[in-house]
Amino acid sequence: MSSNLEDLYREVILDHYRSPRNRGELPVPPATKTEGFNPLCGDEVAVYLEIDSATDTVRDIKIEGQGCSISQASTSMMSAAVKGKTVDGARQLIRAFKALMSIHEHKLEGEGDGSDLAADLEGVRLGDLEALQGVVKFPVRIKCATLAWNTLQQGLDEAGDSSI
Ligand code: ZN
Repeated sequence: MSSNLEDLYREVILDHYRSPRNRGELPVPPATKTEGFNPLCGDEVAVYLEIDSATDTVRDIKIEGQGCSISQASTSMMSAAVKGKTVDGARQLIRAFKALMSIHEHKLEGEGDGSDLAADLEGVRLGDLEALQGVVKFPVRIKCATLAWNTLQQGLDEAGDSSI
């Protein structure tokens, strides 16, 4: 990776860390609140989700949390990426983002080239989210980057159960 691209990636992450998008709370209910914790690093996130059950769309999302720059930037980027998306679209993004991180982890651990995971990435535009791949150089940091996404996944499951 060229240093210019690394600089750009660092800027994207710092921007989200310093000015997190969609920060705040939503009234529960109708929103759901899901909390996530990464004991390896001490990162905490809370994801408030409001799903429009008529259109199956993420009508609103708010985030809270504290922790390292990677975890908090990833949370902000996740919120910006899924707001307004359909639930299916959000789940597709979760799969793609986790595949992006897993491929990296597999390469680090010498477990093949991760081509089985590449299918999850096909046709999904990650945009700024790819910036996170550039800084995840140690497996322990991957947990920081995926915390928000695992919490979102749990939140979508809970929201799906509660909407009738
Ligand atoms: Zn962390």
